[in-house]
Amino acid sequence: MQTAMVCGAGGFIGSHLVKRLKKEGYWVRGVDLKLPEFSESAADEFLKLDLREQPNCERAVITPEGRPFDEVYQLAADMGGMGFIHAAECEIMRNSCLINVHMTDASARLGVKRYLFSSSACVYRDMEPDEPELTEEEAYPALPDNEYGWEKLYAERMAMTYGRRFGMVVRLARFQNTYGPEGTWQGGREKAPAALSRKIAEIEGGGFIEIWGDGTAMRAYTYIEDLLDGIYLLMHSDLEDGVNIGRQEYVSVNELVCVIAEVAGKEVHVKHIEGPVGVRARNFRHDRISAIGWESRFSLREGIGHTYPWVKAQAEAARKAE
Ligand code: NAD
Repeated sequence: MQTAMVCGAGGFIGSHLVKRLKKEGYWVRGVDLKLPEFSESAADEFLKLDLREQPNCERAVITPEGRPFDEVYQLAADMGGMGFIHAAECEIMRNSCLINVHMTDASARLGVKRYLFSSSACVYRDMEPDEPELTEEEAYPALPDNEYGWEKLYAERMAMTYGRRFGMVVRLARFQNTYGPEGTWQGGREKAPAALSRKIAEIEGGGFIEIWGDGTAMRAYTYIEDLLDGIYLLMHSDLEDGVNIGRQEYVSVNELVCVIAEVAGKEVHVKHIEGPVGVRARNFRHDRISAIGWESRFSLREGIGHTYPWVKAQAEAARKAE
């Protein structure tokens, strides 16, 4: 039986990835500081470990039978939406970097065969909405908009360097904004689709929600199932270097509000307030992931159709519990 270890298995994407790998027939270990918040982990074994510590990384990459894992998926990070990324620059630079330094080193030295690192579209520079889409190589010369993006670029390079030295197959997945049920929806680390779903769930029809900036920043959002398809395909492909995974459906934040309002069946008014907005736009090509057979299956409308009811149920349950 193939073995896989998922770092960050208590988080949004990691907990979904564990379920996908179980369906594919793997023996899976999940590792995180915490258990998944919204459903039981599907992992065969779950270790609560702080992956900033080298000995914990060395322990995590060895199976109970004493062999290195066939596959390691490194998704652990100190992570959040735009508000968190701006407020927690030092935590991101320190914590995520320590995790990546020690996990890359332990995996390569102890003989893991395949290693996938969860990088981000934040490695790219700020763009204008109508600029031509960037290829993966155009992450260089590098000018990420925030420290989170710089840390991801460093971790990509570290993984590639160790892959070359130790003969470990390294796959670098650059995730676009990803959303879906069981993602963080409150508390300051939530991303735009979940945050806006919560705000819309909490108002009566005809009410106002506040959004940061003027709402014209352009984004593309990827539904969790599409991302999981991409991660699995990429891990088992021969694609080296960075690979973008994401749906090419670009919408402004104002348009995202309209999609969620339509799914909610509510008339929603927007009040624009000061706040961290991030880049104006990011447009990327997807030729590399498409070439290995990946295709997005979920439109934004469909993905929100699955996500909004889940966020609404969480918000209602939280209100009742107050
Ligand atoms: P998440 O915050 O839900 O999951 C990250 C997990 O890492 C959390 O469960 C957290 O507890 C764990 N973690 C943090 N510090 C740790 C430590 N010291 N030891 C062990 N575990 C630790 O985030 P997510 O949205 O599931 O993102 C997963 C990965 O994908 C991250 O690397 C993130 O940067 C990347 N990514 C996500 C998106 C997105 O839109 N969600 C976009 C681009 C890249």
